[in-house]
Amino acid sequence: MDLFEYQARDIFERHGVPVLGGIVATTPAEARAAAETLLGADDATGVVVVKAQVKVGGRGKAGGVKLARSAEEAEQRAAEILGMDIKGHTVHRVMIAAGASIATEYYFSLLLDRAERRYLAMASVEGGMEIEQLAVERPDALAKVAVDPRVGIDAAKADEIVAAAGFDAEVAPKVAAVLTKLWDVYREEDATLVEVNPLVLTEDGRVVALDGKVTLDGNADFRHEDHASLEDAAAADPLEARAKEKDLNYVKLDGEVGVIGNGAGLVMSTLDVVAYAGQQHGGVKPANFLDIGGGASAEVMAAGLDIILSDPQVKSVFVNVFGGITACDAVANGIVAALGILGDEATKPLVVRLDGNNVLEGRRIIRDAAHPLVTLAETMDGGAAEAARLAATA
Ligand code: GDP
Ligand code: MN
Repeated sequence: MDLFEYQARDIFERHGVPVLGGIVATTPAEARAAAETLLGADDATGVVVVKAQVKVGGRGKAGGVKLARSAEEAEQRAAEILGMDIKGHTVHRVMIAAGASIATEYYFSLLLDRAERRYLAMASVEGGMEIEQLAVERPDALAKVAVDPRVGIDAAKADEIVAAAGFDAEVAPKVAAVLTKLWDVYREEDATLVEVNPLVLTEDGRVVALDGKVTLDGNADFRHEDHASLEDAAAADPLEARAKEKDLNYVKLDGEVGVIGNGAGLVMSTLDVVAYAGQQHGGVKPANFLDIGGGASAEVMAAGLDIILSDPQVKSVFVNVFGGITACDAVANGIVAALGILGDEATKPLVVRLDGNNVLEGRRIIRDAAHPLVTLAETMDGGAAEAARLAATA
């Protein structure tokens, strides 16, 4: 899960990373009140920054980051920025941030390096808005230092990173101290990315994180109860949100053939064969990814079918299950029971392909149930072709 800047800022603050004051506002009036608070603070610089809160980079260049010297001006800038479209993201919130007098802008990020099975720290004394360009045009200006996950960024590693990036002797220890705090964020929050651009040196000699981009590892949600509240419920696809409530592994796509399978690999290949078969039927495509996992109980099957059938784009459904520990007869009973649970809400044709453990018994159960919407398929390709045909002719 990617966080908004204001959420990253709050997390930074909790872990002792130096940040400036920041208050979220959803209306110009709230922005004005927030600016009054910040401009009245003891350490106020007389400037606030109105910053669009969208999960996309380059807000500054797109006009989503503006300075204001009074509460009235902050209100005006917020009125301009709220509702703005930045690279397809509508701005629903701004953060009013205390303004910094920037002497120099640096760059730092820490991320998961899957290929090397490590973390990777990147740092540059040339931060600011164009880090991607810098990485391409002058890769030497961007230091890359491997970080052993078992050690992290301790004082020695932090010194190594600042040395590699070429921070001058005066500022190096201050930056190194901030890097160890950013490591605390990364480790303690189970992040897969922590990026600060810019990390700045202020005119009065402080090193401060002025922008933050944090991605949290959803696999670790179970040990972070507080992370659920960081989710942007408004932005989620409504079907995906409902699927998530039911603990289903569902991703909405934009085709017409609903797909249910067990095991991510099988579901992925089902998407491929459905898309391939769909080419014979005017370009019919899969409507979703849905992995019901190993259990395939009637409840899970019913929950999955319910989600898929409530997608108005879906014209047919392909259930593709390979019986393993949960044998085909149990899955077949699950499908029949699920159709019973759904009753009149099941309105679209279903193609069922079962194979694997206890397949003959499973098929017999489906056949004997003789549900008018259900067709049995012998093979995966055959089932995909039939589901695509049904979707195209519905
Ligand atoms: P991004 O463009 O989405 O990465 O947004 P940033 O938060 O990084 O802001 C873009 C740029 O705005 C920064 O690189 C700074 O140059 C400038 N900026 C942001 N906050 C301040 C501030 O408090 N004072 C000043 N003078 N400039 C700021
Ligand atoms: Mn930035």
